[in-house]
Amino acid sequence: MSTPISPIRTRFAPSPTGYLHLGGLRTALYTYLFAKKHGGAFILRIEDTDQEREVPGAVDLIYQSMRAAGLHYDEGPDVGGAYGPYIQTQRRHLYPEYAWKLVELGGAYPCFCTKERLDAARAEAEKQGETYKYDKRCLSIPLGEAKARIAAGEPYVIRQNVPLTGTASFDDVLYGHVEVPCDTLDDAVLIKADGLPTYNFANVVDDHLMAITHVMRGTEYLSSAPKYNLLYASFGWVPPTYVHLPVVMKDASRKLSKRYGDPSFEDLLAMGYLRDAVINFIALLGWSPGSEREFFTLRELEQVFDVAGLNKSPSIFDMNKLTWFNAEYMRKLPFDAYYGLALPWLESALGKDRFDLRRLTELLQGRTEVLNRLPGMVDFLAAMPDYDTALYTHKKMKTDPQVALAAIDLALPVLVAQEHWREQPLHDALMAAIAASGMKNGQVLWPVRIAITGRESTPGGAIEMAYLLGKTETLARLESAKRRLQAQQ
Ligand code: GLU
Repeated sequence: MSTPISPIRTRFAPSPTGYLHLGGLRTALYTYLFAKKHGGAFILRIEDTDQEREVPGAVDLIYQSMRAAGLHYDEGPDVGGAYGPYIQTQRRHLYPEYAWKLVELGGAYPCFCTKERLDAARAEAEKQGETYKYDKRCLSIPLGEAKARIAAGEPYVIRQNVPLTGTASFDDVLYGHVEVPCDTLDDAVLIKADGLPTYNFANVVDDHLMAITHVMRGTEYLSSAPKYNLLYASFGWVPPTYVHLPVVMKDASRKLSKRYGDPSFEDLLAMGYLRDAVINFIALLGWSPGSEREFFTLRELEQVFDVAGLNKSPSIFDMNKLTWFNAEYMRKLPFDAYYGLALPWLESALGKDRFDLRRLTELLQGRTEVLNRLPGMVDFLAAMPDYDTALYTHKKMKTDPQVALAAIDLALPVLVAQEHWREQPLHDALMAAIAASGMKNGQVLWPVRIAITGRESTPGGAIEMAYLLGKTETLARLESAKRRLQAQQ
């Protein structure tokens, strides 16, 4: 797409049907980035005309998620703007006005068909194995008669009048020219019996009235976009530039979906994924910067985002890759920021005062994949877990239960004698004893660490773990391990 002429106006138009799912977040992100890249405006519009699908509280959740994601919108329901209101139900008076304009222009007509008649026609089409299409019966009602029936209180909808012949088309930035024969298109309802518009109509009217220049949305709307273009043509409006975005898949065969337990953006944040990591990862789900570079802040993405890097094929949401990204972001955080994030998780597992949590946090930062995994990485400090004495056998460390017993016998008196329970003196004393014994470092440190943690992998080595546990607990655990090993010999 050539560099657009200012002013660019894009919108994210979610329906308040629940949490912001990750496909929606990606659409919001790309839409935001496109606006920022070109110095344009990014607008949030709430599409709530399908009231049956609305979930209470979902609108507030959308605001929260957008804020949590750092996607600041220039105009929107809770920030205002010159093209408001930005909630469709608050614009409800506008749509019938435009629908009637369309009726006058021949692009739409009122329809009085009852649900019974339509259901019967649909059932009949199904029986014949045909795709149901409204038969335009009400198109033949003279407008004056239709208006009189409406004035008399008869329920009605307004339908789009799709031509019987010819084609409808539009050009998508990603998918190119999309063209469909008009006789395959149904005369969709534009205004429902309750007076509210359907998506089919509201998206066109609002994108026009809000002066939207570029629409990014999911490919589920790709096939109906030609029909929307007929509406633009009837009104004599210029349609926006469309970029339909491929779906985000869970795997080769299934869409990412909250219904199947796939996490929402809020879920990821609650699990302890970092906002910046999620945004970075989501940005690369279907878009490539055209280089091998993988790490981008939101500000950097605002500079480098280019629709030319969008990929037409569906992308797969790889949770392991996200976790890898998150670990990298954790590592790069300034220590105090990481400490602030990790602390509540550590306190939940270990309490506030029992351990030197600052030291523990230093040890954990380079190993943290997701914050919610921290309690499981440190719970052995609070209580000695059960463990298999097979852990004492380690080929590379040249240890087995017998060596372990010798190692504990070597370490115990050194530790008992230790007055300053800090890492450096502990280290110096233990290393001196090991050197004097002729054993190898690993032959002592491996078994001691197993004996006091019961874990093959811990946030630090034997000395750090002993320091954190404190003298009394370390000695008690070593004594207990010794008894167990003796009983096994
Ligand atoms: N309200 C629609 C949805 O949530 C938005 C589609 C669009 O962006 O036009 O899917």
